Amino acid sequence: MTDVINEFKHIEMPQMLSLGANMFQSLPEIIEKLSLGKSCLLITDTFVFDKYAKEVEQILLDSGFKEIQLSTIEDSTLVEVDKQLNLLNEIKAEFVIGLGGGKPIDVAKLTSYKANQRFISIPTIASHDGIASSRASLKGINERHSIQARPPIAVVADTSILDKSPYRFTCAGCGDVLAKKTSIKDWLLAHRLKNEMISPTSIALANMTVELVSKNADLIKNQSDGYSRIVMNSLIGSSLAMCVAGSSRPGSGSEHMFSHALDSIAEKPALHGEQCAVGSILMAFLHDLDWEKIKSTMEKIGLKTKARDLDIKDDEIIKALEIAHSIRPERYTILGKDGLSHEVAVRVAEKTGVID
Ligand SMILES: [Zn+2]
Repeated sequence: MTDVINEFKHIEMPQMLSLGANMFQSLPEIIEKLSLGKSCLLITDTFVFDKYAKEVEQILLDSGFKEIQLSTIEDSTLVEVDKQLNLLNEIKAEFVIGLGGGKPIDVAKLTSYKANQRFISIPTIASHDGIASSRASLKGINERHSIQARPPIAVVADTSILDKSPYRFTCAGCGDVLAKKTSIKDWLLAHRLKNEMISPTSIALANMTVELVSKNADLIKNQSDGYSRIVMNSLIGSSLAMCVAGSSRPGSGSEHMFSHALDSIAEKPALHGEQCAVGSILMAFLHDLDWEKIKSTMEKIGLKTKARDLDIKDDEIIKALEIAHSIRPERYTILGKDGLSHEVAVRVAEKTGVID
């Protein structure tokens, strides 16, 4: 590694990480320890409203909480954040809970940030690493934005629930973690070529999460005891790497730009982690990494590495490769300032077997 440019900055992390079986039951104790108050806005989605949101509400009411306002969201948009913010002010909630997949957690993250309040992240699927990070991914008028907010004050992950969630989501979470292999390389490249500041602690953390998933690929695939705990630990570790860096740099490089490009052009985009996994194979090829090893680890876990298996058209893959560099031009990656030509995009996609 080349010289590190040291500069003082603030690092904000979650205060409590609670991971284990039946963790919902510990929520009152966690909230008490953090002195968050007795009234909250619980933001969730329609998928888990009956399944888990009602259960959490009951646990809190039974423990003497005064007002728990349940609110379901349809999508993670900036308009939705404003709606939740109005509701929060109306009921004078003292803190926010985000319960469900990525969308309610992102909306809760930005709503609480705008209200200068804290929020608890309760993921019910292990599909991406925004669970404990400070950045919220929201849809604006036309496009998706990643907005700087604050990390949750606590992450409460109940493994008895994660164990029961559809494997496709957990698998996608593994894809989001394994994709760090190329985002770290992009960061180091930007450091060497553009003198961008790096954090060795953040890089070590991000590398550790890749190792954790890679080493346990069989255990995860077989859904053996503790598999969801390993995946959730890795996702939280990846979130913390971003907290340490003060940006999404360690967890989001050219492979994420490729995934965002696909989101904007594909007729039926796949899950975020699935797309980032494919993106990472393509970018690993460009970085001259051992992309075949990365690909085989992904396949061992059950990730699909062919475009057609993800219901994505070959020409959408090519187009996404061609425009990926323009998604976030200020972030230097292996794609450079000009991106890939059509011919190179086709060759990379064919050589890696993403398209035939
Ligand atoms: Zn991601």
